[in-house]
Amino acid sequence: MSKPRGRQFFANPGPTNIPDSVLRAMDRPSIDFNDPDFVAIYDQARAGVKRVLRTTQHLFMYNGSGHGAWEASLTNLLSPGETILVLESGYFSDEWATMARSFGLQVRTIAADWRVGVSIDDVQAALAADTAHEIKAVCVVHNETATGMMIPLPAVRAALDATGHPALFLVDTISSLGSLAFHMDEWGIDCVVGGSQKGLMLPTGMSFTGVSDKALAAHAKATLPRYYFDWTLMASRPQKSFIGTVPVNIFYGLHESVRLLEEEGLDNVIARHARLAEATRRAVRVWAGNNGPELFGRSVDRLSNSVTAIAMPDGFNGDALRKTIRERYNVSLGGGLGKLGGKIFRIGHLGDLNEPMLLGALAAVEMGLRVEGVPHGRGGVDAAMAYLSEG
Ligand code: PLP
Repeated sequence: MSKPRGRQFFANPGPTNIPDSVLRAMDRPSIDFNDPDFVAIYDQARAGVKRVLRTTQHLFMYNGSGHGAWEASLTNLLSPGETILVLESGYFSDEWATMARSFGLQVRTIAADWRVGVSIDDVQAALAADTAHEIKAVCVVHNETATGMMIPLPAVRAALDATGHPALFLVDTISSLGSLAFHMDEWGIDCVVGGSQKGLMLPTGMSFTGVSDKALAAHAKATLPRYYFDWTLMASRPQKSFIGTVPVNIFYGLHESVRLLEEEGLDNVIARHARLAEATRRAVRVWAGNNGPELFGRSVDRLSNSVTAIAMPDGFNGDALRKTIRERYNVSLGGGLGKLGGKIFRIGHLGDLNEPMLLGALAAVEMGLRVEGVPHGRGGVDAAMAYLSEG
């Protein structure tokens, strides 16, 4: 088959589209990361990330994808044999828990149906039952990229407060930062795990943790082995992050991506994501007619505004549909992860995205459903267009 022409419509939930101005900003020669010209950009970009996190506390950054920041959050805050509580949301909460076990931590899980999401009452009950305060950290994936489920963080904070539980509150914001409302300090979050390749619209490869004063105090007593991710070591170095070479060109890009987010206004960025997500959901609800593909998530108030997971009807494979859509229309969609492989597909609608880009992806899905003979209700794209032309 010949190589498709035109730009690939990239509707993956990460990595995401990189804005042209970010690509241009990165397309510069490297300079010494101690050069005052670079240090100025570095400091400004770091301050920008803190504003996006909505924190005035601490920030540590790493060469490494989100897994690196996960590892940093665990090894800097915990000691061998300690217990954490993980709120199950899907593939990524499972992976974070698996990583914790590999470091010798005890993991308690609040189990949840991936289509419905965790019960906050169950979380509160588990915290209330832990009168000995064995649980040292509560880990939540704010936006479960694998299932398109958003967990209400203020409700988790309220459960901690209602029980007077002193556990640290750890949040993975990898697919929510710069896309969904997120307030580290206001929501009493002690450690935030973020990555470069989603709402920050950058290449993959840099991750970071926002860290509260309370977490930094816990870090001083935590004994899990660490070196590259060690916050004490970082704090002793001039860059306060990155043990080793700073990714200079990523910082050129980060400086620009923070500028773009702030030029649009963080609240407007969040509103744009909500609007594009709602248009996507309206399309899917139409496709669900005639026993077609339907929204995977069943809790309406938890449907993610950065990624929509769509369950295939029985007997039809989401990966076959994605293959057709990629090969015929040059549109890239996300697949089902782990046990959801082939059962769902995912439309990423986060980052540098506007209405026609989303509509192009939705139209390609609707055409793909026809090509593949998947039953569905006709007119999903019309429903999305009608919504996007309101107001
Ligand atoms: N957490 C979430 C919610 C994710 O979506 C991802 C990746 O998509 C990760 C963690 C892992 O991050 P990475 O793939 O950058 O290592």
